[in-house]
Amino acid sequence: MCGIVAYVGPKEAYPIIIEGLKRLEYRGYDSAGVSIINGGMHTFKCKGKVLDLEKIIEQDKVHGTLGMGHTRWATHGAPNDINAHPHLSGDSNLAIIHNGIIENYSTLRTALEKLGHTFVSETDTEVLIHLIEEIRNTEDLPLEEATRRALTKVVGAYAIVVLDKNDPNKIVGAKNSSPLVFGLGEKEFFLASDASPIVKFTDKVIYLEDEEIITIHRDGDYEIRTIENEVADPEIKQIDLNIEELEKGGYEHFMLKEIYQQPLTIAESMRGRLSADEGWAKLGGMEQHLNRFKQAKRIVLTACGTSWHAAMIAEYLFEDLARIPTEVEYASEFRYRNPIISPDDVIIALSQSGETADTLAAINLAKSKGAFIYGIVNNVGSTIARTTDSGSYIHCGPEIGVASTKAFTSQLTVLTLMAIILGYEKGKISEGYYRQLLSELESVPSLVAKILTKADQIKYIASEIRNTSNALYLGRGYNFPVALEGALKLKEISYIHAEGYPAAEMKHGPIALIDMYMPVVVIATNKSAHEKIVSNIQEVKARKGIVVAVVTEGDHIIKGMADFTIEIPYIEEPLSPLLSVVPLQLLSYYIAVMRGCHVDQPRNLAKSVTVE
Ligand code: GLU
Repeated sequence: MCGIVAYVGPKEAYPIIIEGLKRLEYRGYDSAGVSIINGGMHTFKCKGKVLDLEKIIEQDKVHGTLGMGHTRWATHGAPNDINAHPHLSGDSNLAIIHNGIIENYSTLRTALEKLGHTFVSETDTEVLIHLIEEIRNTEDLPLEEATRRALTKVVGAYAIVVLDKNDPNKIVGAKNSSPLVFGLGEKEFFLASDASPIVKFTDKVIYLEDEEIITIHRDGDYEIRTIENEVADPEIKQIDLNIEELEKGGYEHFMLKEIYQQPLTIAESMRGRLSADEGWAKLGGMEQHLNRFKQAKRIVLTACGTSWHAAMIAEYLFEDLARIPTEVEYASEFRYRNPIISPDDVIIALSQSGETADTLAAINLAKSKGAFIYGIVNNVGSTIARTTDSGSYIHCGPEIGVASTKAFTSQLTVLTLMAIILGYEKGKISEGYYRQLLSELESVPSLVAKILTKADQIKYIASEIRNTSNALYLGRGYNFPVALEGALKLKEISYIHAEGYPAAEMKHGPIALIDMYMPVVVIATNKSAHEKIVSNIQEVKARKGIVVAVVTEGDHIIKGMADFTIEIPYIEEPLSPLLSVVPLQLLSYYIAVMRGCHVDQPRNLAKSVTVE
């Protein structure tokens, strides 16, 4: 959560910072602020988006070649002008921007108040800058050393940048749990939450490790020390990201672009990983540990949000194709419920950003119990990618829309491939079925492209149900988690209350909600249990519910019963979620647009959830 960017170099800092903040805005957007040093510290901040910040800037005050900016996702204190970052020390000499949570802020605040500090905001962040100020002034220390000592007293997650108004040549940064990337350009240097504000200027970066503090001098000298005050010497890495990937490319929203990218991104997720013709499939990270997987007594998948839905589909895949007992856990619950984990378990952690705090905490817990951890991550070089024992990248490129779409289908592609490989290696599926699944998996990108041609029809359905306040999503088997995902997409971006249920569970409760105003989206592509789904649709129709059915091409039975149908191509059931989710993504997208919602930045949400 929250975007951080800082710059020092020969250029004007403000335009670079503002552009960087716009790229990082997917991480948080309830308030924004900048501080530029130029004969003093000029700080502007306000509630709202980066565009709102631009309106209150006094241009003559933001000339300067060193500065920093922040876009906030509030944890402590309402999103308002005062709680927006940067926050200043009591003497106004120092300023800080922060991503994360200082968990012991309350104790620190009370101790500082006893020493005479007064606070203007409700944030945890302001406490930290006062603590740095206190240590620095009483012990007469350089900023970086005061910051280091202050951080030894802090419990929690942080990525911070600290500036001193009297030193226009130095930036101090530090991180623990929240990400911070150092960009090394031609006589110019950057700190940012991810590489997106940096990529235009340089491809050389250092990903800071937890509990590291960096001091960057304008002349290009930099030093990284651990919180124990030891010098660290990390490797400079090359980023593999191009600027077009960060633009909307003619689409109205990132979400729409990302939905339409799926034929390409799904293909990217399997590129070089299978050939149906030659009858092979492999995932580098899995190949090295194949025995671990084959001998696993149990697979536990852990994730949050949309990734958790991908994990749920994987439970069906691993049990159905590979016959390995599989469980799925919300990372936040897993972490705190004292789970039984043995060294024979394989833990698969899923996270688009690779920075999800709850998932990271779950990984660390499982690691401490000796389990083998496999990561499925999009963001190359992210913390989760570095923390796991092995893993597979999903390679779908940056996902900027807050509601995940292409990352979900890419996660599913990798998980499906894993289950097919394991099923085959363990002798649980025949050679013929193995080849058939691989060949159908290879055809998924073109089938998704076909579904996308139905956008106008889906838009029409959206226009018919857009005024609803509630919606129900039903699915069976592999398509039950798709129902959950469809409901989540609608909630996230259109603010319509929606729930996903196993179709058969409807009669145990949700059926009470059905009346002539209730849209019920049924994912009815399953070959198995088709008659059962038909009965569920009848039950909805008998109560006058509005049925939107996603069916397999040629399914005239359901077409005759539903109010609206979206036909999708036939595919073997284990692969069906890869197709059936696509019309649901489009349906929520169009409903949200028609309701005037901010699709890419839905209220209260942020991408990359780096707080627990
Ligand atoms: N905890 C800080 C606040 O509430 C930082 C939140 C963030 O990461 O944006 O202001």
